[in-house]
Amino acid sequence: MNVFDDPGIQKALGRYVRVMNDELPARFMLCKSVPAAIPAGISECWAEHSKAMKKFSKLLNNPQHVEEVRPNLLELKQRIADLMIADCSFCERTCRVNRKKGELGMCRVGYESRISSAFEHIGEEPELVPSGTIFFSGCNMSCQYCQNWQISQFPSCGEVWPPQKIAEWVEHHRKFGIRNVNLVGGEPTPNLHNILASLQLCRVNIPVVWNSNMIMSQETMELLNGVVDVYLADFKYGNDGCAKRLSLMPQGYWKTLTRNSLAASRHAEILYRHLVLPNHVECCSKPVLKWVSDNLGDSVRVNIMSQYRPEYRAAGISDITRRITKKEYEEVADYSRKAGLWNVELQSLLFSE
Ligand code: SF4
Repeated sequence: MNVFDDPGIQKALGRYVRVMNDELPARFMLCKSVPAAIPAGISECWAEHSKAMKKFSKLLNNPQHVEEVRPNLLELKQRIADLMIADCSFCERTCRVNRKKGELGMCRVGYESRISSAFEHIGEEPELVPSGTIFFSGCNMSCQYCQNWQISQFPSCGEVWPPQKIAEWVEHHRKFGIRNVNLVGGEPTPNLHNILASLQLCRVNIPVVWNSNMIMSQETMELLNGVVDVYLADFKYGNDGCAKRLSLMPQGYWKTLTRNSLAASRHAEILYRHLVLPNHVECCSKPVLKWVSDNLGDSVRVNIMSQYRPEYRAAGISDITRRITKKEYEEVADYSRKAGLWNVELQSLLFSE
């Protein structure tokens, strides 16, 4: 079956499909057609940003005559990110370090972006593949079972890609059929400044997928409004206690995730990913799915993932030392179906019994 024949796609990801087919401009292309001044100070920049975003919203609803101007709203966003990184508050950790001067925060990601790999991914959700996936090294969470820990926990792995190289990679691979640019890691958030700079240089129309743990700061969410077409959002935990114990998150995980989810639903489309963890059906899976259903309705696409493996430091944490059981997965999938959430179950199911 062609996934695009599924009516759920139109409901959840209708604009994404039209950008993918080049029928509508990606949000970052619209951003480049909105004129904006670039003031020196941060508060003047935010004031200008809020004026320019009003023009952006009008254009989004009536995207005709899209033509790049200079200076533009995307350059203004770049300027704000460049000011923010000198006192870093890209994410909810708000480390307040000057990454321009070489200081490192919790994520240990420097000023330059390092890429561990980039390729046409065919293992993502069917509506995304082939997905032009760029893996940024480093992460601002520290999941003790991280399925991708070789990338996320080693910010110095891979090689430095300046914005020009990222833009050229996207342009080249779009011509060869990638449906989107999928910014992941690790985590894209610590690389916000370089991602905005690379989109400024990118000359092809392509949907931008922000594949993230969703602990961005409110300011970062403001900057991503008008840039991201689809949030590929990990919603892991149903409470702060599990987030603290398993991902070393300070308090505030639930508040941050729900706040950012509501913001994301106002300014883009969302595809949620929820990785079922062993022994976390009641405390995490069900509260997450209930919140999504209660607050975002049944038009949101949710992928309930079964592929958990006890990786990284999981062997030392008694509740997550095994794969999930078939019963656990079915209980979560059933709960999701009853909550009216649309899920394409595409994984090869690997259970511990
Ligand atoms: S991106 Fe987040 S974790 Fe990294 S330095 Fe900035 S505020 Fe800290």
